[in-house]
Amino acid sequence: MAETQLRTLSGQWATATATDVAALRGRLRGTLVGPDDPGYDDARAVWNGMIDRRPGLVVRCAGTADVILSVIFAREHGLVVSVRGGGHNTGGSAVADGALMIDLSPMNGVRVDPLRHTVRAGGGVTIAELDQETQAFGLAVPMGVVSQNGIAGLTLGGGFGWLRRRYGLSCDNLVGADVVTAAGELVTAGPGGDAELLWGLRGGGGNFGVVTSFEFQAHPVGPDVHFAVVLHRGEDARAALRFYRQWAADAPDEVSAMATLWHHPEQDEVPEPERGKPGLALFAMHCGDPTAGAEMLRPLRDFGTPLADLSAAQPYLAAQRYFDADYPAGEMRHYWRSRYLDALDDDAIDAMIALNETSPSPQSAIDVWQLGGRYARFTADDAAYGERSAAYLIGIEGKWADPGADDDGVAWGRRVVDTLAPFSTPAEYVNFPGLYEDNAALVRAAFGGNLDRLRALKKRYEPDNMFRFNHNIPPG
Ligand code: FAD
Repeated sequence: MAETQLRTLSGQWATATATDVAALRGRLRGTLVGPDDPGYDDARAVWNGMIDRRPGLVVRCAGTADVILSVIFAREHGLVVSVRGGGHNTGGSAVADGALMIDLSPMNGVRVDPLRHTVRAGGGVTIAELDQETQAFGLAVPMGVVSQNGIAGLTLGGGFGWLRRRYGLSCDNLVGADVVTAAGELVTAGPGGDAELLWGLRGGGGNFGVVTSFEFQAHPVGPDVHFAVVLHRGEDARAALRFYRQWAADAPDEVSAMATLWHHPEQDEVPEPERGKPGLALFAMHCGDPTAGAEMLRPLRDFGTPLADLSAAQPYLAAQRYFDADYPAGEMRHYWRSRYLDALDDDAIDAMIALNETSPSPQSAIDVWQLGGRYARFTADDAAYGERSAAYLIGIEGKWADPGADDDGVAWGRRVVDTLAPFSTPAEYVNFPGLYEDNAALVRAAFGGNLDRLRALKKRYEPDNMFRFNHNIPPG
């Protein structure tokens, strides 16, 4: 390999000599991939097909020692570092031009302790891998709803899924972590280690170091759960959303639901004339006994005249993978944002229906996540994650195929954010960050009163801001 150009902390370019790079490569157990190496394009690819960035070097870490060596290399050369878990961050924060990219995806070991109901997982584990191991013992950790997602970025920003109203977010169930700091030292977050760091990792992102392993509290779930999927025609969306609002207010904590305004997919389950037309889908999981779940979710299925009802008792693992095929890696272009709503006003419902109908891409969607339950009973002292009081999270999924449609796709996402502003709290969800176009506003609104505490933690661990490609906390 010839000499390598890398981006420094001050924004300049530095040169790592071929000898420096060869020395690093020789000490790693994993692999080092540079721009001239075969596999470079695979190593720099992330989930959002719109992201096309060229890191200076990629270290595919086989273990904690590789992470430490990478961080020390970055420190010695004054480099910025990006960190990749599952590569699903829609803003593409796992990869940055000229950065040293620390890729943890080979670190995907999972160890369940069935007696303590805890699970230890490497920094590159996906939701599918974690679920597979925990379900072998009748356990589950709250994670997101698409199983190829990395647990790392998800947990470090929050983590909404089908167990949120029963057990909270992924970050609420993080009970410990091993972290390689910017000094290249391994510290333990949590009991017996740094409790403040654990608090910060529960939502504060990859700001404090590289998490080489996570320890979670797991809970008895499955093997079967009741999972409701009910589709409504566009003309019935208003009435169905008003019903959803009323039903969601009284649902028990075992139920976590989501209403999605979308264009019905071109799939066999959707009657022919409705395919590709604007409509509404109601999704809900009851995470307890499936027979009780069927009863609880019955009103959601009985309302109105659904276009299709695909509800069924099914393995928890199957429900966790229900959306996977709709979110292939690298194929589509994405712009994802969010809003939190204290209530679902009639005017907000009408605005969202109109925004869905006028979306420039039929693949885009607006998700109305039901909040409350256990999620709302965690406090600012439990986790850095800031928002607990809103009744709904609105997920704005801009999605299109044509690179020529980038401006329209992004503009639609921003239009949804702006249109919903009068109905919304100031916060946005840090894991739906758009393209980080206004990071300062994002973290200020997301963390509110927790921001000063996070800034102090950042200053203690990371005053130079080596780990800056994230929802970045400015050092206090
Ligand atoms: P990556 O892109 O690998 O990493 C994102 C950032 O996290 C990195 O830039 C880094 O700052 C940090 N990071 C990653 N790994 C580490 C580590 N080991 N140590 C320190 N820092 C690290 N969110 C939800 O809440 N619920 C959902 O159901 C949900 N569904 C989604 C479905 C899809 C298809 C996609 C694309 C996203 C979804 N999200 C969801 C958002 C998701 O939470 C974020 O995209 C998250 O960042 C993904 O984590 P990752 O490890 O794959 O990300």
